Amino acid sequence: MELYSLTIHQLKEFLHKKEVSVLEVTRAYLERIKEVEPQIDALITITEEFALQRAKEADEKIKNGEAKDLTGIPVIIKDNISTEGIRTTCSSKMLENYVPPYNATVVERLLEEGAVILGKSNLDEFAMGSSTENSAFKTTKNPWDLSRVPGGSSGGSAAAVAADEAAFALGSDTGGSIRQPASLCGVVGMKPTYGLVSRYGLVAFASSLDQIGPFTKDVTDCAIVLNTIIGHDPMDSTSLKIDKPDYTSYLKEDIKGLKIGVAKEFFSTGIEKGVKETVQKAIKVFEDLGADIIDISIPYLEYALPAYYIIASAEASSNLARYDGIRYGHIAKNYEDLIDMYMTGRSEGFGKEVKRRIMLGTYALSSGYYDAYYKKALKVRTLIKNDFERAFEKCDVIVGPTSPTVAFKIGERTNDPLAMYLADIYTVSVNIAGLPGISLPCGLSDGLPVGLQVIGKHFDEGRIINVAYAFEQANKFNAKPQAIGGAR
Ligand code: GLN
Repeated sequence: MELYSLTIHQLKEFLHKKEVSVLEVTRAYLERIKEVEPQIDALITITEEFALQRAKEADEKIKNGEAKDLTGIPVIIKDNISTEGIRTTCSSKMLENYVPPYNATVVERLLEEGAVILGKSNLDEFAMGSSTENSAFKTTKNPWDLSRVPGGSSGGSAAAVAADEAAFALGSDTGGSIRQPASLCGVVGMKPTYGLVSRYGLVAFASSLDQIGPFTKDVTDCAIVLNTIIGHDPMDSTSLKIDKPDYTSYLKEDIKGLKIGVAKEFFSTGIEKGVKETVQKAIKVFEDLGADIIDISIPYLEYALPAYYIIASAEASSNLARYDGIRYGHIAKNYEDLIDMYMTGRSEGFGKEVKRRIMLGTYALSSGYYDAYYKKALKVRTLIKNDFERAFEKCDVIVGPTSPTVAFKIGERTNDPLAMYLADIYTVSVNIAGLPGISLPCGLSDGLPVGLQVIGKHFDEGRIINVAYAFEQANKFNAKPQAIGGAR
């Protein structure tokens, strides 16, 4: 048994019983990172010194009987989540040397519990993409097959957890950026209900869609991390005041009589045969567990992708206006006047996909096109929300595939933005409706992981965890990524 291959709940037991020290655990992970990083390239920054210092503090906490769930647990944070004193690049030249003066609320909560931050993970620039190839610094490889992408935009976080570089990681999900890479890397990833987790300190992409969530090795760990990161935050006006449930109390195997909705629209054209068959087998598992499978329909789902790319780009074009070299961002060396300074700085600092989104978004918001594009997309958003509401009158959760394909080859879609956008076809509607969703591994197709998506009602994360846990127990996913020696 290697320390780095353990789950949070396993590590916690060893730590609380003082069978290992946090320092030993941290060193084991730092070694693991050194061993696999040359192949995986999941990380932008490794915070070795900070981690060792935090480890010593966590050991003190345990010694003094102050240990909590995440005390001494190693974590990696997506590099668009602010960390005080630690570079936060968003994988963009624009923020190459940006060091935030404060922590995101989620980071603050992890540190309060005594978690050990090992580093910051790679992403598609400003979280725009589905493969992590849009990073200005490096391309992360999928630990299951190094010639393939880990998904995106939180590909670094997903790959890091799959390759045992951390016990868990944080990512952000605007249109699928936690669930899709979790699916492609064979780990668990959850996007909570909009408003459940504070966005304070998350670098904004599309503020009405963005949510932070965990990547973990199993569903139990997902519940543990969720317990820590959720809750009202006065610094985020969209974070909601709700009673904090204990999500671990939903780790039950019984789902008898539960109504599980399956929408035919989630099995539309473009889905790979292997993915479809694996997900259908998963649905059979729910039947065997005594759940009722109910046919439902989300008729407007076919418009989710175009609506998403208009809304997300419109919000991005406005959010990214702050990178003008004065308030934030790269400053051009040579320029003639103020306008030229903005133009040159932004031309040099932003990559191709980010520029494409800014142009799309600005166009959709410009007078004369606003009604035709942006306003229409908002109307579609309402229709999709209504579709889900109607569906949830008939069922408790909805299950389907997370991604229409398994991990695709590096370079395969980089010249075809539309092919890249299609990777999000089953995830964006969940953000559009503000719902919670989890992806968990349900099998392999051609030796690559397939993700099962479970979507719940607003703030029904507990139910999602219940369903996902029941499935996980009945359908143990024991396969390990082999491309890095399979040492798990
Ligand atoms: N792949 C989607 C996009 O490029 C979603 C990104 C995300 O969730 N951050 O916009």
